[in-house]
Amino acid sequence: MRQVHKRTKIVATLGPASASKETLLSMIKVGVNVCRLNFSHGSQADHQKVIDTIRDINQKYKIHVGILADLQGPKIRIGMVKDGGIQLINGNQIDITTNEMIGDEQQIYITYSNFPKDVRAGEIILLDDGKLQLRVLDTNNKDKVTCEVVHGGILTSRKGVNLPNTKISIPSLTEEDLSNLEFALANDVEWIGLSFVRTGEDIIDLKRIINRSGKMARVIAKIEKPEAVDNIDEIIRATDGVMVARGDLGVEMPMEQVPVLQKMIVRKCREASKPVVIATQMLESMITTPRPTRAEVNDVANSVLDGADAVMLSGETSVGEFPVIVVDTMSKIIRNIEETAYPYYTPKKLDVNSATYMADAVCGSAVYLSEKTNACGIISMTSSGYTAFEISSHRPKATTYIFTNNKNLLNTLSLLWGVRGFYYDKQESTDRTISDVNRILKEEKMIMPGDAVINTAAMPIEKRGKTNMIRVTVVD
Ligand code: PEP
Repeated sequence: MRQVHKRTKIVATLGPASASKETLLSMIKVGVNVCRLNFSHGSQADHQKVIDTIRDINQKYKIHVGILADLQGPKIRIGMVKDGGIQLINGNQIDITTNEMIGDEQQIYITYSNFPKDVRAGEIILLDDGKLQLRVLDTNNKDKVTCEVVHGGILTSRKGVNLPNTKISIPSLTEEDLSNLEFALANDVEWIGLSFVRTGEDIIDLKRIINRSGKMARVIAKIEKPEAVDNIDEIIRATDGVMVARGDLGVEMPMEQVPVLQKMIVRKCREASKPVVIATQMLESMITTPRPTRAEVNDVANSVLDGADAVMLSGETSVGEFPVIVVDTMSKIIRNIEETAYPYYTPKKLDVNSATYMADAVCGSAVYLSEKTNACGIISMTSSGYTAFEISSHRPKATTYIFTNNKNLLNTLSLLWGVRGFYYDKQESTDRTISDVNRILKEEKMIMPGDAVINTAAMPIEKRGKTNMIRVTVVD
Protein backbone atom coordinates (compact mmCIF):
# COMPACT_ATOMS: atom_id res chain seq x y z
CA MET A 1 0.00 0.00 0.00
CA ARG A 2 1.27 3.50 -0.90
CA GLN A 3 0.33 6.20 1.58
CA VAL A 4 -0.22 9.73 0.32
CA HIS A 5 3.16 11.47 0.54
CA LYS A 6 3.36 14.87 2.20
CA ARG A 7 5.99 16.35 4.45
CA THR A 8 3.77 17.75 7.20
CA LYS A 9 2.29 14.84 9.10
CA ILE A 10 -1.26 14.18 10.30
CA VAL A 11 -2.14 12.95 13.79
CA ALA A 12 -5.69 11.57 13.99
CA THR A 13 -7.53 10.95 17.24
CA LEU A 14 -9.31 7.61 17.13
CA GLY A 15 -12.71 6.89 18.62
CA PRO A 16 -16.00 5.20 17.78
CA ALA A 17 -16.06 6.84 14.30
CA SER A 18 -12.67 5.45 13.30
CA ALA A 19 -12.17 2.22 15.25
CA SER A 20 -13.04 -0.20 12.44
CA LYS A 21 -10.15 -1.67 10.47
CA GLU A 22 -11.61 -0.56 7.10
CA THR A 23 -12.09 3.05 8.18
CA LEU A 24 -8.68 3.21 9.81
CA LEU A 25 -7.00 1.75 6.76
CA SER A 26 -8.71 4.28 4.48
CA MET A 27 -7.66 7.12 6.81
CA ILE A 28 -4.06 5.89 6.79
CA LYS A 29 -4.05 5.61 2.98
CA VAL A 30 -5.12 9.21 2.56
CA GLY A 31 -2.67 10.66 5.06
CA VAL A 32 -2.72 9.62 8.74
CA ASN A 33 0.82 9.12 10.07
CA VAL A 34 0.19 8.88 13.82
CA CYS A 35 -2.92 7.68 15.67
CA ARG A 36 -3.78 9.38 18.95
CA LEU A 37 -5.54 7.45 21.69
CA ASN A 38 -7.21 9.91 24.03
CA PHE A 39 -7.18 8.40 27.52
CA SER A 40 -9.73 11.00 28.69
CA HIS A 41 -12.26 8.73 26.94
CA GLY A 42 -12.71 4.99 26.46
CA SER A 43 -11.56 2.01 28.47
CA GLN A 44 -8.20 0.25 28.25
CA ALA A 45 -10.03 -2.64 26.57
CA ASP A 46 -11.26 -0.23 23.84
CA HIS A 47 -7.76 1.18 23.37
CA GLN A 48 -6.28 -2.33 23.25
CA LYS A 49 -8.48 -3.23 20.27
CA VAL A 50 -7.39 -0.11 18.40
CA ILE A 51 -3.70 -0.69 19.18
CA ASP A 52 -3.98 -4.26 17.87
CA THR A 53 -5.65 -3.02 14.68
CA ILE A 54 -2.90 -0.42 14.03
CA ARG A 55 -0.15 -2.98 14.65
CA ASP A 56 -1.91 -5.44 12.28
CA ILE A 57 -2.13 -2.79 9.55
CA ASN A 58 1.55 -1.87 10.03
CA GLN A 59 2.61 -5.47 9.73
CA LYS A 60 0.39 -6.37 6.80
CA TYR A 61 1.19 -3.30 4.69
CA LYS A 62 4.81 -2.77 5.87
CA ILE A 63 4.10 0.79 7.01
CA HIS A 64 5.04 2.60 10.21
CA VAL A 65 2.03 4.36 11.68
CA GLY A 66 2.94 5.57 15.17
CA ILE A 67 0.75 5.63 18.30
CA LEU A 68 0.40 8.58 20.65
CA ALA A 69 -1.13 7.70 24.03
CA ASP A 70 -2.49 10.97 25.37
CA LEU A 71 -2.79 10.94 29.18
CA GLN A 72 -5.50 13.09 30.71
CA GLY A 73 -3.20 14.64 33.35
CA PRO A 74 -4.61 16.74 36.21
CA LYS A 75 -7.87 17.59 34.43
CA ILE A 76 -10.36 19.04 36.91
CA ARG A 77 -14.09 18.43 36.54
CA ILE A 78 -17.31 19.22 38.33
CA GLY A 79 -19.43 16.26 39.49
CA MET A 80 -22.87 15.09 38.45
CA VAL A 81 -25.67 17.67 38.58
CA LYS A 82 -29.37 17.13 39.17
CA ASP A 83 -31.68 16.47 36.20
CA GLY A 84 -28.61 16.35 33.92
CA GLY A 85 -28.30 20.16 33.85
CA ILE A 86 -28.66 23.22 36.11
CA GLN A 87 -29.18 26.89 35.26
CA LEU A 88 -26.52 29.31 36.54
CA ILE A 89 -27.83 32.90 36.61
CA ASN A 90 -25.56 35.97 36.34
CA GLY A 91 -24.99 37.65 39.73
CA ASN A 92 -26.18 34.63 41.78
CA GLN A 93 -23.93 32.95 44.35
CA ILE A 94 -22.96 29.28 44.15
CA ASP A 95 -20.76 27.15 46.43
CA ILE A 96 -18.18 24.69 45.16
CA THR A 97 -17.58 21.81 47.53
CA THR A 98 -14.97 19.06 47.71
CA ASN A 99 -17.51 16.69 49.34
CA GLU A 100 -19.00 14.49 46.63
CA MET A 101 -22.71 15.24 46.03
CA ILE A 102 -25.22 15.73 43.20
CA GLY A 103 -24.97 19.40 42.24
CA ASP A 104 -27.84 21.92 42.15
CA GLU A 105 -28.23 25.72 41.75
CA GLN A 106 -26.77 26.30 45.25
CA GLN A 107 -23.80 23.93 45.31
CA ILE A 108 -21.65 21.82 42.93
CA TYR A 109 -18.90 19.25 43.53
CA ILE A 110 -15.33 19.63 42.21
CA THR A 111 -12.87 16.73 41.77
CA TYR A 112 -9.93 18.72 43.23
CA SER A 113 -9.63 18.17 46.98
CA ASN A 114 -7.12 20.96 47.65
CA PHE A 115 -9.12 23.54 45.72
CA PRO A 116 -10.28 25.57 48.79
CA LYS A 117 -6.66 25.80 50.02
CA ASP A 118 -5.13 26.72 46.62
CA VAL A 119 -7.67 29.26 45.38
CA ARG A 120 -7.81 32.97 46.32
CA ALA A 121 -10.68 35.50 46.34
CA GLY A 122 -10.95 37.29 42.99
CA GLU A 123 -9.66 34.36 40.91
CA ILE A 124 -11.62 33.20 37.85
CA ILE A 125 -13.19 29.74 37.42
CA LEU A 126 -14.09 28.66 33.89
CA LEU A 127 -16.53 25.82 33.26
CA ASP A 128 -17.29 23.84 30.09
CA ASP A 129 -14.42 25.16 27.90
CA GLY A 130 -14.90 28.68 29.25
CA LYS A 131 -18.56 28.96 28.24
CA LEU A 132 -19.51 29.69 31.88
CA GLN A 133 -17.51 31.88 34.23
CA LEU A 134 -17.48 32.25 38.04
CA ARG A 135 -15.48 34.57 40.31
CA VAL A 136 -14.27 33.45 43.73
CA LEU A 137 -15.73 35.52 46.58
CA ASP A 138 -14.44 33.51 49.54
CA THR A 139 -12.91 30.20 50.61
CA ASN A 140 -13.12 28.42 53.99
CA ASN A 141 -9.68 26.90 53.22
CA LYS A 142 -11.14 23.47 53.95
CA ASP A 143 -13.97 22.16 51.78
CA LYS A 144 -16.00 25.08 50.39
CA VAL A 145 -15.45 27.98 47.98
CA THR A 146 -18.16 30.62 47.49
CA CYS A 147 -18.43 32.15 44.01
CA GLU A 148 -20.43 34.65 42.02
CA VAL A 149 -21.75 33.71 38.57
CA VAL A 150 -20.21 36.13 36.03
CA HIS A 151 -21.38 34.43 32.79
CA GLY A 152 -24.20 31.98 33.43
CA GLY A 153 -25.93 29.34 31.36
CA ILE A 154 -26.80 25.66 31.55
CA LEU A 155 -24.19 23.54 33.34
CA THR A 156 -24.34 19.81 32.66
CA SER A 157 -22.66 16.93 34.57
CA ARG A 158 -18.87 16.27 34.59
CA LYS A 159 -17.89 19.39 32.68
CA GLY A 160 -14.21 20.44 32.66
CA VAL A 161 -12.93 23.21 34.93
CA ASN A 162 -10.12 25.61 34.00
CA LEU A 163 -8.43 27.74 36.64
CA PRO A 164 -6.25 30.19 34.70
CA ASN A 165 -5.14 32.19 37.76
CA THR A 166 -4.80 29.44 40.38
CA LYS A 167 -1.51 27.76 41.29
CA ILE A 168 -2.71 24.16 41.19
CA SER A 169 -1.13 21.66 43.61
CA ILE A 170 -2.35 18.44 41.93
CA PRO A 171 0.51 16.12 40.83
CA SER A 172 1.13 16.09 37.08
CA LEU A 173 0.35 12.35 36.89
CA THR A 174 -2.83 11.15 38.61
CA GLU A 175 -3.51 7.55 39.72
CA GLU A 176 -5.51 7.06 36.53
CA ASP A 177 -2.65 8.42 34.41
CA LEU A 178 -0.19 6.00 36.08
CA SER A 179 -2.43 3.06 35.27
CA ASN A 180 -2.90 4.22 31.66
CA LEU A 181 0.84 4.88 31.35
CA GLU A 182 1.61 1.33 32.47
CA PHE A 183 -0.89 0.03 29.90
CA ALA A 184 0.58 2.21 27.12
CA LEU A 185 4.14 1.16 27.95
CA ALA A 186 3.17 -2.51 28.05
CA ASN A 187 1.88 -1.97 24.49
CA ASP A 188 5.13 -0.29 23.39
CA VAL A 189 3.42 2.88 22.19
CA GLU A 190 5.90 5.29 20.64
CA TRP A 191 4.70 8.62 22.06
CA ILE A 192 3.16 9.52 25.43
CA GLY A 193 1.30 12.84 25.62
CA LEU A 194 1.14 14.59 28.99
CA SER A 195 -1.71 17.07 29.49
CA PHE A 196 -1.56 20.26 31.56
CA VAL A 197 2.24 20.27 31.80
CA ARG A 198 3.41 23.12 34.03
CA THR A 199 7.20 22.73 34.34
CA GLY A 200 10.17 20.85 32.89
CA GLU A 201 10.12 18.80 36.10
CA ASP A 202 6.70 17.34 35.09
CA ILE A 203 8.35 15.89 31.98
CA ILE A 204 11.44 14.69 33.86
CA ASP A 205 9.19 12.82 36.36
CA LEU A 206 7.34 11.10 33.51
CA LYS A 207 10.59 10.21 31.75
CA ARG A 208 11.94 8.70 34.98
CA ILE A 209 9.00 6.26 35.03
CA ILE A 210 9.43 5.43 31.34
CA ASN A 211 13.17 4.80 31.82
CA ARG A 212 12.52 2.58 34.83
CA SER A 213 10.18 0.47 32.69
CA GLY A 214 12.99 -0.10 30.18
CA LYS A 215 10.74 1.11 27.33
CA MET A 216 11.68 3.60 24.62
CA ALA A 217 8.50 5.73 24.52
CA ARG A 218 9.10 9.44 23.93
CA VAL A 219 7.18 12.28 25.51
CA ILE A 220 5.00 15.04 24.05
CA ALA A 221 4.41 18.00 26.37
CA LYS A 222 0.94 19.46 25.83
CA ILE A 223 1.14 23.23 26.19
CA GLU A 224 -2.24 24.36 27.51
CA LYS A 225 -1.56 26.43 30.64
CA PRO A 226 -0.10 29.91 31.16
CA GLU A 227 2.52 28.36 33.49
CA ALA A 228 3.68 26.12 30.62
CA VAL A 229 4.03 29.16 28.37
CA ASP A 230 6.09 30.91 31.08
CA ASN A 231 8.32 27.81 31.40
CA ILE A 232 8.42 26.95 27.70
CA ASP A 233 12.24 26.86 27.40
CA GLU A 234 12.77 24.36 30.24
CA ILE A 235 9.83 22.26 28.99
CA ILE A 236 11.24 22.09 25.44
CA ARG A 237 14.65 21.18 26.88
CA ALA A 238 13.16 18.30 28.90
CA THR A 239 10.70 16.90 26.36
CA ASP A 240 11.01 14.97 23.07
CA GLY A 241 8.11 16.75 21.39
CA VAL A 242 5.44 19.38 21.99
CA MET A 243 1.74 19.83 21.25
CA VAL A 244 0.17 23.28 21.04
CA ALA A 245 -3.10 22.18 22.67
CA ARG A 246 -5.13 25.17 21.57
CA GLY A 247 -8.40 23.92 23.09
CA ASP A 248 -7.43 24.40 26.72
CA LEU A 249 -4.74 26.99 25.94
CA GLY A 250 -7.40 29.25 24.41
CA VAL A 251 -9.50 28.91 27.56
CA GLU A 252 -6.70 29.41 30.07
CA MET A 253 -5.18 32.37 28.20
CA PRO A 254 -6.79 35.22 26.28
CA MET A 255 -7.58 33.40 23.03
CA GLU A 256 -6.34 36.30 20.88
CA GLN A 257 -2.82 35.46 22.14
CA VAL A 258 -2.90 31.87 20.86
CA PRO A 259 -1.89 32.55 17.20
CA VAL A 260 1.30 34.33 18.25
CA LEU A 261 2.05 31.73 20.95
CA GLN A 262 1.65 29.01 18.31
CA LYS A 263 4.27 30.70 16.09
CA MET A 264 6.64 31.24 19.03
CA ILE A 265 6.37 27.59 20.21
CA VAL A 266 6.86 26.19 16.68
CA ARG A 267 9.97 28.36 16.17
CA LYS A 268 11.51 27.29 19.50
CA CYS A 269 10.77 23.61 18.85
CA ARG A 270 12.40 23.75 15.42
CA GLU A 271 15.47 25.46 16.89
CA ALA A 272 15.68 22.65 19.47
CA SER A 273 15.01 19.91 16.85
CA LYS A 274 11.91 18.74 18.74
CA PRO A 275 8.76 17.90 16.73
CA VAL A 276 5.71 20.10 17.31
CA VAL A 277 2.03 19.29 16.71
CA ILE A 278 -0.72 21.89 16.26
CA ALA A 279 -3.99 20.64 17.74
CA THR A 280 -7.70 21.30 18.10
CA GLN A 281 -10.57 22.63 16.03
CA MET A 282 -8.52 22.53 12.82
CA LEU A 283 -11.43 21.25 10.70
CA GLU A 284 -14.06 21.27 13.47
CA SER A 285 -17.06 21.94 11.23
CA MET A 286 -16.30 18.67 9.40
CA ILE A 287 -17.55 16.75 12.44
CA THR A 288 -20.99 17.21 10.88
CA THR A 289 -20.44 18.52 7.32
CA PRO A 290 -18.32 17.10 4.48
CA ARG A 291 -16.76 20.49 3.57
CA PRO A 292 -14.70 22.71 5.88
CA THR A 293 -15.15 26.43 6.35
CA ARG A 294 -12.70 28.66 4.45
CA ALA A 295 -11.34 29.88 7.80
CA GLU A 296 -10.52 26.29 8.80
CA VAL A 297 -8.68 25.72 5.50
CA ASN A 298 -6.68 28.84 6.27
CA ASP A 299 -5.90 27.63 9.79
CA VAL A 300 -4.48 24.30 8.55
CA ALA A 301 -2.54 26.05 5.78
CA ASN A 302 -1.11 28.65 8.18
CA SER A 303 -0.11 26.00 10.71
CA VAL A 304 1.78 24.22 7.91
CA LEU A 305 3.40 27.52 6.89
CA ASP A 306 4.33 28.21 10.54
CA GLY A 307 6.52 25.09 10.29
CA ALA A 308 4.64 22.53 12.39
CA ASP A 309 5.75 18.90 12.10
CA ALA A 310 2.17 17.74 12.30
CA VAL A 311 -1.41 18.95 12.42
CA MET A 312 -3.95 17.08 14.50
CA LEU A 313 -7.58 16.04 14.19
CA SER A 314 -9.63 15.40 17.34
CA GLY A 315 -13.44 15.11 17.28
CA GLU A 316 -13.27 15.27 13.48
CA THR A 317 -11.93 11.70 13.34
CA SER A 318 -12.95 10.28 16.73
CA VAL A 319 -16.67 11.01 16.65
CA GLY A 320 -17.22 12.88 13.37
CA GLU A 321 -19.35 11.72 10.48
CA PHE A 322 -16.60 11.97 7.83
CA PRO A 323 -13.35 10.56 9.25
CA VAL A 324 -11.84 9.63 5.86
CA ILE A 325 -12.98 12.75 4.00
CA VAL A 326 -11.57 14.99 6.74
CA VAL A 327 -8.11 13.37 6.55
CA ASP A 328 -8.20 13.59 2.75
CA THR A 329 -9.16 17.28 2.98
CA MET A 330 -6.31 17.99 5.41
CA SER A 331 -3.83 16.11 3.17
CA LYS A 332 -4.89 18.18 0.15
CA ILE A 333 -4.44 21.46 2.04
CA ILE A 334 -0.98 20.35 3.23
CA ARG A 335 0.13 19.18 -0.22
CA ASN A 336 -1.04 22.34 -1.91
CA ILE A 337 0.98 24.50 0.50
CA GLU A 338 4.02 22.25 0.16
CA GLU A 339 3.83 22.41 -3.65
CA THR A 340 3.28 26.15 -3.93
CA ALA A 341 4.33 28.25 -0.96
CA TYR A 342 6.32 26.32 1.64
CA PRO A 343 9.43 28.12 2.98
CA TYR A 344 11.80 25.12 2.72
CA TYR A 345 15.23 25.15 4.33
CA THR A 346 15.58 28.04 6.67
CA PRO A 347 19.11 27.56 8.07
CA LYS A 348 19.41 27.15 11.84
CA LYS A 349 22.04 28.58 14.14
CA LEU A 350 24.54 26.01 15.42
CA ASP A 351 25.10 25.90 19.16
CA VAL A 352 28.88 25.62 19.50
CA ASN A 353 28.55 24.70 23.18
CA SER A 354 26.27 21.75 22.50
CA ALA A 355 27.55 18.22 23.15
CA THR A 356 26.13 17.28 19.74
CA TYR A 357 27.77 20.18 17.89
CA MET A 358 29.79 18.00 15.45
CA ALA A 359 26.86 15.76 14.45
CA ASP A 360 24.60 18.82 14.19
CA ALA A 361 27.14 20.51 11.90
CA VAL A 362 27.28 17.40 9.67
CA CYS A 363 23.45 17.15 9.48
CA GLY A 364 23.13 20.89 8.76
CA SER A 365 25.78 20.62 6.04
CA ALA A 366 24.01 17.62 4.49
CA VAL A 367 20.85 19.70 4.20
CA TYR A 368 22.83 22.64 2.78
CA LEU A 369 24.42 20.34 0.19
CA SER A 370 21.02 18.90 -0.71
CA GLU A 371 19.80 22.42 -1.53
CA LYS A 372 22.95 23.27 -3.52
CA THR A 373 22.81 20.04 -5.58
CA ASN A 374 19.01 20.11 -5.94
CA ALA A 375 19.05 16.61 -4.45
CA CYS A 376 15.75 14.74 -4.24
CA GLY A 377 16.69 12.81 -1.12
CA ILE A 378 18.80 12.91 2.02
CA ILE A 379 19.41 9.28 2.89
CA SER A 380 20.61 8.52 6.40
CA MET A 381 21.19 5.64 8.76
CA THR A 382 20.34 5.97 12.43
CA SER A 383 20.09 3.72 15.45
CA SER A 384 19.03 6.32 18.04
CA GLY A 385 16.92 8.46 15.68
CA TYR A 386 19.03 11.55 16.42
CA THR A 387 19.96 12.19 12.77
CA ALA A 388 16.30 12.07 11.71
CA PHE A 389 15.24 14.66 14.31
CA GLU A 390 18.15 16.91 13.36
CA ILE A 391 17.81 16.76 9.56
CA SER A 392 14.02 17.13 9.70
CA SER A 393 14.30 20.30 11.80
CA HIS A 394 16.00 22.11 8.86
CA ARG A 395 12.88 21.48 6.72
CA PRO A 396 14.82 20.44 3.57
CA LYS A 397 13.13 20.36 0.18
CA ALA A 398 14.66 16.90 -0.36
CA THR A 399 12.76 14.03 1.28
CA THR A 400 14.54 12.60 4.33
CA TYR A 401 14.85 8.82 3.96
CA ILE A 402 15.83 7.19 7.23
CA PHE A 403 17.08 3.60 7.46
CA THR A 404 17.30 1.83 10.80
CA ASN A 405 17.28 -1.67 12.25
CA ASN A 406 14.96 -0.52 15.06
CA LYS A 407 11.32 -1.22 14.04
CA ASN A 408 9.84 0.68 17.00
CA LEU A 409 11.89 3.74 16.06
CA LEU A 410 10.39 3.75 12.56
CA ASN A 411 6.92 4.27 14.06
CA THR A 412 8.30 7.04 16.29
CA LEU A 413 9.79 8.85 13.30
CA SER A 414 6.42 8.90 11.50
CA LEU A 415 5.63 12.08 13.45
CA LEU A 416 8.64 13.99 12.10
CA TRP A 417 8.29 16.49 9.29
CA GLY A 418 9.51 15.16 5.91
CA VAL A 419 10.81 11.83 7.25
CA ARG A 420 10.13 8.48 5.55
CA GLY A 421 11.42 5.43 7.39
CA PHE A 422 12.74 2.07 6.16
CA TYR A 423 13.84 -1.06 7.95
CA TYR A 424 17.44 -2.08 7.21
CA ASP A 425 19.62 -4.41 9.27
CA LYS A 426 22.64 -5.26 7.13
CA GLN A 427 25.06 -2.55 8.14
CA GLU A 428 28.38 -4.13 7.11
CA SER A 429 30.55 -1.50 5.46
CA THR A 430 29.81 2.12 4.62
CA ASP A 431 30.15 1.59 0.85
CA ARG A 432 27.98 -1.53 0.85
CA THR A 433 25.30 0.09 3.03
CA ILE A 434 25.11 3.24 0.92
CA SER A 435 24.83 1.27 -2.29
CA ASP A 436 22.18 -0.97 -0.67
CA VAL A 437 19.95 1.81 0.64
CA ASN A 438 20.18 3.76 -2.62
CA ARG A 439 19.25 0.59 -4.53
CA ILE A 440 16.23 0.00 -2.23
CA LEU A 441 14.93 3.53 -2.89
CA LYS A 442 15.52 3.12 -6.63
CA GLU A 443 13.55 -0.15 -6.61
CA GLU A 444 10.76 1.62 -4.73
CA LYS A 445 10.86 4.33 -7.47
CA MET A 446 11.47 6.98 -4.85
CA ILE A 447 14.72 8.03 -6.53
CA MET A 448 15.48 7.78 -10.28
CA PRO A 449 18.60 7.43 -12.41
CA GLY A 450 20.22 10.85 -12.78
CA ASP A 451 18.85 12.14 -9.43
CA ALA A 452 21.33 13.62 -6.98
CA VAL A 453 21.04 12.25 -3.45
CA ILE A 454 22.93 13.01 -0.25
CA ASN A 455 23.98 10.08 1.92
CA THR A 456 25.02 10.51 5.53
CA ALA A 457 26.38 7.86 7.88
CA ALA A 458 28.43 7.31 10.99
CA MET A 459 31.77 5.77 10.01
CA PRO A 460 32.82 3.11 10.75
CA ILE A 461 29.26 1.92 10.21
CA GLU A 462 29.39 -1.13 12.49
CA LYS A 463 30.32 1.07 15.50
CA ARG A 464 26.97 2.97 15.31
CA GLY A 465 28.43 6.27 16.47
CA LYS A 466 27.32 9.81 15.63
CA THR A 467 26.79 10.93 12.02
CA ASN A 468 30.18 12.08 10.67
CA MET A 469 30.10 11.51 6.90
CA ILE A 470 28.37 13.06 3.88
CA ARG A 471 28.46 11.76 0.30
CA VAL A 472 26.88 13.20 -2.83
CA THR A 473 25.76 10.53 -5.28
CA VAL A 474 24.17 10.68 -8.71
CA VAL A 475 21.88 7.67 -9.00
CA ASP A 476 22.93 5.38 -11.86
C1 PEP B 1 -6.44 20.70 23.67
O1 PEP B 1 -6.82 21.18 24.74
O2 PEP B 1 -6.30 21.38 22.64
C2 PEP B 1 -6.11 19.27 23.61
C3 PEP B 1 -5.55 18.73 22.56
O3 PEP B 1 -6.35 18.55 24.73
P1 PEP B 1 -7.52 17.46 24.96
O4 PEP B 1 -8.09 17.15 23.60
O5 PEP B 1 -6.82 16.31 25.56
O6 PEP B 1 -8.45 18.13 25.88
